[in-house]
Amino acid sequence: MSNLWRICQILWIGRLLTGESQSRRLVTQLWEAYRVQEGLSEIFDHFLGQPLILTNREVLRPDYVPESLPHRDEQIRRLGWILAPVLKGSRCSNVFIYGKPGIGKTAVVRYVLTHLVRKSHELHSAVEACHVNCRMAGTDYRVLSMLSESVGVHIPFTGLSTNEVFDRFKAGLASLHGVLVIVLDELDVLVKQHGDDLLYELTRVNETSDIGRLVFIGVSNDLNFKELLDPRVLSSLSEEELVFRPYAADELHDILWERAALSFSDGALEESALRLCAALAAAEHGDARRALDLLRVSAELAEREGAKGVTDAHVRQAQRKIEENRVNEALKTLPLHQRLVLYSIYHTSRLNMRDCLTGDIYEVYADLCGKTGVEPLTQRRISGLISELDVLGVVNAKLVSRGRHGRSKRVRLNMPLLAAQEHFNSDTRFSPLLSYVPRHLRKTP
Ligand code: ADP
Ligand code: MG
Repeated sequence: MSNLWRICQILWIGRLLTGESQSRRLVTQLWEAYRVQEGLSEIFDHFLGQPLILTNREVLRPDYVPESLPHRDEQIRRLGWILAPVLKGSRCSNVFIYGKPGIGKTAVVRYVLTHLVRKSHELHSAVEACHVNCRMAGTDYRVLSMLSESVGVHIPFTGLSTNEVFDRFKAGLASLHGVLVIVLDELDVLVKQHGDDLLYELTRVNETSDIGRLVFIGVSNDLNFKELLDPRVLSSLSEEELVFRPYAADELHDILWERAALSFSDGALEESALRLCAALAAAEHGDARRALDLLRVSAELAEREGAKGVTDAHVRQAQRKIEENRVNEALKTLPLHQRLVLYSIYHTSRLNMRDCLTGDIYEVYADLCGKTGVEPLTQRRISGLISELDVLGVVNAKLVSRGRHGRSKRVRLNMPLLAAQEHFNSDTRFSPLLSYVPRHLRKTP
């Protein structure tokens, strides 16, 4: 019996004896705590008592590095050919890799570099590799300090100028006597935020000094990213280019099948459920990350309800859950005006105002701005914000022709009304306006 239960009993007896209201409140609180504790232990017992669906969860985690990468042989071999000269101590071409998210770019680069470094150690040749995720690093300073760490130079978290860190990195590089292969992963995010100065300086290291040899592998999720680069940086970075195309449904099926064989217990995954995960992710944009997420979340949902295995219904439920999470995450980071635009679109949907064009949304937006004490932006800016919301997938904006009035967008909310309502209800700035009615719909007395 738990200690909490014992204390409850003692206090209960105490209350009977003294009748004090304070001790009564304490008993109620302790009783609640006892119930929560018991509930938790029931969950654990339930989990331990049922047959497991997943025998190895790690294999489905996003950071798991698979031993084999089906349907990426061609990219692995090409990157292998490009990088092979470094094993003889020469610098090879820089490579620029791009393709949509979740289609194996990082996995392929890690795979090839692991084998390259292993081979170089066998040959006692000095090849080192450094993989930096620029989105996670966030700033030029952090990228540079991670590069410096890879050549044995420790950089304090803050306090040095970027130039100073760069000098220390070059000094570390001089002591390497070999080739350093630098992967700048999700490079597009860094350049969009901080420009390409760092890239320019880095790519110049090879030209201006005899200190070390750098090879760059730039990886971007954005296909149009090249347009943002200074032509000198671009020509240096993209001496070779590798384009990754999305996976087709049957390729995703093979990828999932290999992972499922390592992670599911026998008979705990229906073939049709596996196919459904692959088909849904293929419709997304051939995204293996989404396919693996679907499989993992489906298995977790099935386990939670005590099912024997994963069925199509679990996969559909997982799809809804992932979608909800994605929308919630996207909404959390929206800046004020975008939030106001979405709030306007929410109200037009809530009030069944059909076929709303950009102008209608703008009217509601301007009215809402007045109510919240915010200076409205121009209609043109709002049109841009609507397009961004469309890209996020939370609204649907379709270009329509209005004859001699030119073109406009027909805008609709693309998420459950209830989810939007919950979101705005949790924001104290917007919650008082939940039953707002646009000016032109208000009844005049
Ligand atoms: P990207 O870098 O293109 O965004 P990743 O390489 O991170 O995509 O891949 C996303 C997820 O899918 C990772 O968990 C990765 O292990 C897995 N994955 C991608 N391609 C394959 C493949 N061909 N075989 C096995 N797993 C893969
Ligand atoms: Mg990646």
